Amino acid sequence: MLYSKLFGKTSKSAPHDADSVNARFLAQGGFVDQVMAGVFTWLPLGLRVLRKVENIVREEMDALGAEEILMPALEPKENWEKSGRWQTVGILYKIKSRDGRELALGPTHEEIVTPLVGKFVKSYKDLPVALYQIQTKFRDEPRAKSGVLRGREFEMKDLYSFHADEADLEKYYPQVVKAYLKIFKRLGIKAEITSALGGSFSPTSDEFQLIAESGEDKLSYCANDKKYFNQELIGDKTVCPLCGGELKKEVRGIEIGNTFKLKYKFADAFNVQYTDKDGKRQKVVMGCYGIGVSRLVGAIVEASHDDRGIIWPKSVAPYLVHLVILGGRPSPTLTKAAPNSPPLGTRTPSERGARGRGGVYKAAMKIYDDLTKSGVEVLCDDRDVSPGEKFGDADLIGAPLRLVVSEKTLAKKSVEWKERKSEAIKLVKISSLKKELAKYCKV
Ligand code: ATP
Ligand code: MG
Repeated sequence: MLYSKLFGKTSKSAPHDADSVNARFLAQGGFVDQVMAGVFTWLPLGLRVLRKVENIVREEMDALGAEEILMPALEPKENWEKSGRWQTVGILYKIKSRDGRELALGPTHEEIVTPLVGKFVKSYKDLPVALYQIQTKFRDEPRAKSGVLRGREFEMKDLYSFHADEADLEKYYPQVVKAYLKIFKRLGIKAEITSALGGSFSPTSDEFQLIAESGEDKLSYCANDKKYFNQELIGDKTVCPLCGGELKKEVRGIEIGNTFKLKYKFADAFNVQYTDKDGKRQKVVMGCYGIGVSRLVGAIVEASHDDRGIIWPKSVAPYLVHLVILGGRPSPTLTKAAPNSPPLGTRTPSERGARGRGGVYKAAMKIYDDLTKSGVEVLCDDRDVSPGEKFGDADLIGAPLRLVVSEKTLAKKSVEWKERKSEAIKLVKISSLKKELAKYCKV
């Protein structure tokens, strides 16, 4: 992609209401545009990141054997009355159609997926079932904040599993946890499993927290068990509910996912049953598992940045390479070799400079074409702006690798190679660039 053509440019100043690192850098870098509090347009750069996060989540859900579906955002009130949540869920957006029908804008989809499974599951042979979707959710959050971390419209991956008995849910649940940890590892972030304790001290749900100062959740930590507990759950207890040891207070976390053993709650509400081997009717046992896909984009920024901008992990970077051309476009009058252009030896210094810059540009464009054709994702800064501006934007946008082409590097038939996360600079021969990039992608 040529930066000159990219829709959505960097801006020099942070939005006045940016209350977090991700709010600031995602807006300043041209990744998102805030329409109103908690509602964003994903610009081309941001959408590339979002899609990559989605795809990693999708790959691991597929590897788990879950099947992807897409449920509607419009949910009938009757379903929410059946589950008893029409009145109790405060963040529910309620809307009315022109003929007076009441609807909810889906904040979650138990009310749709449970009766759906009820339609198709008849016998024990139809179980287990695992369905997921990656879809936009709507929540009338009292306070949308921290950029894309808490939106009123956001993207979630929600997985629902249905089992013949509790033992099967118990067997399945750790597989989801494993898939989640794999997802977060691929996204380059460390997730801490945070227990939510059920009545009899048996964990019935887990949260996946990214430890970060900007997190909304307050966590307590038990050094003995190497486990975090959400204070929303355990309150201001100072002893660990597992070992009785001392709890360290006030670590902050961003909840990037969670897993619940719902068991019979929704199966009961929608009367979802199946016929077992002995011909007896049995209740279906259910689990649900969420990942905040759009929140993850913000969480990655919170976890990986410096004071100049974002440092994207390779797996989700909008582009792998940010190619900086230090030299202007060829001047049309000089390169056309107009009949009245002076012979080579008689050019003025400024004309020589212009021809030289055009040369750098052409050589860089050749590298750009070559890399792009061989499948490398390159954002090429082809603008006629100062080197300082180009380097500043490269740091802000945060592609993992910056390559610079200048007269100096070309004199050595090379490009300058610098990783976003380090200050080290080296020259790499143009002839071995693709090989070096392939190596870099593997580590
Ligand atoms: P939270 O405690 O942060 O309000 P939640 O416990 O209500 O989230 P779920 O309803 O289980 O979360 O949603 C699944 C995942 O979706 C969460 O783990 C989180 O990563 C993400 N998520 C929830 N609410 C939002 C939001 N308003 N904006 C962005 N992502 C969200
Ligand atoms: Mg929560």
